[in-house]
Amino acid sequence: MKILLLGKNGQVGWELQRSLALLGEVIALDFDSPGPLKADFSVPESLAATVRAVAPMIIVNAAAHTAVDRCEDEPERARAINAEAPAMLARAAREHGATLMHYSTDYVFDGSGSVPWRERDATGPLSVYGATKLAGEEAIRDSGCVHLVLRTSWVHSARGGNFARTMLRLGGERDALSVVADQVGAPTSAELLADTTATMLRKLQQEPGLAGTYHVAAAGECSWYDYARHVFAYARAHGRAFKVTPESLTPIASSAYPTPAKRPANSRLDTTKARAAFDLVFPPWQAGVERSVAEMLDQK
Ligand code: NDP
Repeated sequence: MKILLLGKNGQVGWELQRSLALLGEVIALDFDSPGPLKADFSVPESLAATVRAVAPMIIVNAAAHTAVDRCEDEPERARAINAEAPAMLARAAREHGATLMHYSTDYVFDGSGSVPWRERDATGPLSVYGATKLAGEEAIRDSGCVHLVLRTSWVHSARGGNFARTMLRLGGERDALSVVADQVGAPTSAELLADTTATMLRKLQQEPGLAGTYHVAAAGECSWYDYARHVFAYARAHGRAFKVTPESLTPIASSAYPTPAKRPANSRLDTTKARAAFDLVFPPWQAGVERSVAEMLDQK
């Protein structure tokens, strides 16, 4: 079975190179891959030819414009990469009878309330990133292709930029750090997403009726402040010294840390549907964060 993986060098894409290899032959591309096959999402029209040339049974799209604040300044680029390119892939998937696996985000919601979001809840993105990701998943649902859209949150891995890596860096440079404590979600490892992807794709082959949109995230919840505390506690317990101390790590409100893109306060995702349909267990967020931080510490 041929699998076309797009965005192979991102956090999730890198882990997918490993997990998808169990399912079949993986043709993995990034936007500047050498050779004739092109996968530049800022030129969505180019993707149809790539799908035609590879003729995959499964397309896994891990590429996205994930720089949330930069999307505010680059709405057209964000729309091309996050909405138009997935729409193009969905059309190509339908034409070739391929299954499309795609990732979306908690940022499609407006962050109100404190109840975890379910798949059928009303969306209301607060940012260009959230709006373009929502447009991408809607285009996939409307296309009629067989698809899985996985909405997830706060992705981390030992590779690429993410909050845990930023904390490890800043904690070594600064005596004091203020971290937002009124946004709540679940840090989710790229590893968990990649393994979940392979499991879901395998089961979908046996039960095509399971196609659809699902929330996939690690279990439990925390604020960015709780997350930072956990990163530092784990790293300290494993011999890493920081300038910042537990006392000088301060919780603050989002209003005290203005950013170009507004973030949802409630990023909790209810994963009941995915766990029930695919017989999955999602481990606590702390387990994944500890693995990523352990690998980051090994890299130093
Ligand atoms: P990354 O930013 O790590 O990876 C995205 C990949 O897309 C990178 O390899 C990037 O390349 C590539 N890319 C960017 N622009 C283009 C382009 N024009 N053409 C082709 N490829 C391009 O993201 P994650 O792995 O963290 O995210 C995977 C999915 O999960 C995405 O759909 C994202 O929206 C979603 N998600 C991510 C969250 C997070 O916290 N990161 C939270 C919730 C959902 P390069 O690095 O060279 O720019």
